[in-house]
Amino acid sequence: MSVTERQKILVVGSGFSGSLLAAILQKYGYDVTLIDKCSHPRFAIGESSTPTAGFILKSLVDRYNLQELLPLTRYGLWREHLTEIGVGVKRGFSYFFHESGGKFSITPTHESELLVAASSSQEMADTHWYRQDVDSLLFTFAARQGVTCWEPAQINRARFDESTHRWQVQLDIRKDDLEFHWIIDASGASEVMSGLTIHEASDRASLETKTSAVFAHFKNIRRFDQILLEARMDISDFPFPSDNAAQHHVLQSEWLWNLRFDNGISSLGLVTDLHRSNESGQWSNMLAAYPSIQLMLQDAEFDVATPTLRQTGRLQRLAPAAVGPGWVALPNTIGFIDPLHSTGIAHALSGVERLAGIFTQDSVCTDELSRYGESVYSELNLIDQLIAGCYKMMPSKRHFEAYCMLYFAAAHSYETCRKELVSSKQAPGIFLLNEPQMIEVIRKGYHLATEIAETQRWDEPDLFEQQIRELISPFDQIGLCNPDVHSMYGYTAVL
Ligand SMILES: Cc1cc2nc3c(=O)[nH]c(=O)nc-3n(C[C@H](O)[C@H](O)[C@H](O)COP(=O)(O)OP(=O)(O)OC[C@H]3O[C@@H](n4cnc5c(N)ncnc54)[C@H](O)[C@@H]3O)c2cc1C
Repeated sequence: MSVTERQKILVVGSGFSGSLLAAILQKYGYDVTLIDKCSHPRFAIGESSTPTAGFILKSLVDRYNLQELLPLTRYGLWREHLTEIGVGVKRGFSYFFHESGGKFSITPTHESELLVAASSSQEMADTHWYRQDVDSLLFTFAARQGVTCWEPAQINRARFDESTHRWQVQLDIRKDDLEFHWIIDASGASEVMSGLTIHEASDRASLETKTSAVFAHFKNIRRFDQILLEARMDISDFPFPSDNAAQHHVLQSEWLWNLRFDNGISSLGLVTDLHRSNESGQWSNMLAAYPSIQLMLQDAEFDVATPTLRQTGRLQRLAPAAVGPGWVALPNTIGFIDPLHSTGIAHALSGVERLAGIFTQDSVCTDELSRYGESVYSELNLIDQLIAGCYKMMPSKRHFEAYCMLYFAAAHSYETCRKELVSSKQAPGIFLLNEPQMIEVIRKGYHLATEIAETQRWDEPDLFEQQIRELISPFDQIGLCNPDVHSMYGYTAVL
């Protein structure tokens, strides 16, 4: 892009996705301004990354020459090159199914556990992002690329002139109006551009998942594996330490996430299925009902970033619009489903990838922007089915585990596809959610789960496992839903 044609872009929101896209577009030749209502460093939730996120980030690094950010793609590289940036190791996903009132215990055939590896070694492992550090790093990176960064700053007023294709924007930190050709909304739940231009509330009635969360950062969380070992339980066939993972403790109508960072801080959050419980999860009730969790938290102290628990309302949201004249939003602004399966970071990065692709063509094609917006909505709807079905299956570990395999099949196929992708080809939709066959598999799986939950027929787990196995067979290259491995999937990594 030559200097005379330099178009101006305002990016609203400097979470990692806003900052990364701002940096890429500035490097490409746009004149980018990035604003955030908060100042870095600041606490942010949404920390557990996945191989899918790693693949997309690596591809962005290669395509836009962002070599400095390569260490964010793997735990080993991160520990070597980003020593100042908080991180935790994530070898995969671990799940423990607790009975109310009883201590957690392990059987030789793992009737209460599920471990799924997502990486082949600690070096290659995924990461938990200590967001206040990662987001600051990317904000500073954007500034170093020449992006004009203002924080704290918000839009007071914005008016779009369709004839000149220019925004007149008044920020709260400036008296004069600023002119932009495009606004990219990366403000997440604030949905700034929908608020300014659509004036409708977030639409979430169509979403099946219905959850809320209560969460905080803690110090002194004991390792769950240590608690199991002290109780003389045999964890020798765990494919990786269950604490070096996104650790899930599945309770009655709730589950607890536990993500450990290397700096001694852990992120814990209790997510409640509001279809099965009338009120949000109570931390103290959880501790009273589940002695093994109480043991894990016996020395816990709040970290300074969150001196008390933070309670959310319903987590699910869908913005009334993804795209409008002169603006477009990133995925986490278009909608969000749930922390289960850690889809958020990958989805946000896939939005960065797609918008960077559209904005770095000779001219920005508005039809392509509309198609992008539509695909993000349909992805959110499919992620909703992948997650809502898991909540429906939570009363039975075997049903839950089988249903999870829909997600693992989708994620693994996508990652394999990304690994083999020739750089000139267009990136596939997230988790292959633009493939008609995958859409059909998820739809059928969700239908089966709904039927079981409605009829409360939990007596035929073998049949359900068989049905899911058949459904995912066109995509399953790694033997998911395999009863012989007794819920210990150690061989499922792409890298
Ligand atoms: C409880 C919970 C748990 C989650 N857990 C996971 C997980 O484990 N793994 C995962 O992958 N995803 C998870 N997510 C999703 C994850 O949080 C998001 O995908 C991720 O934060 C998206 O990053 P982002 O940069 O797009 O947006 P955000 O992180 O939402 O950043 C938005 C930015 O916009 C700024 N902003 C807001 N309003 C304005 C305004 N009016 N003007 C200017 N700036 C504004 C904010 O200050 C913020 O900096 C979770 C989400 C929730 C709610």
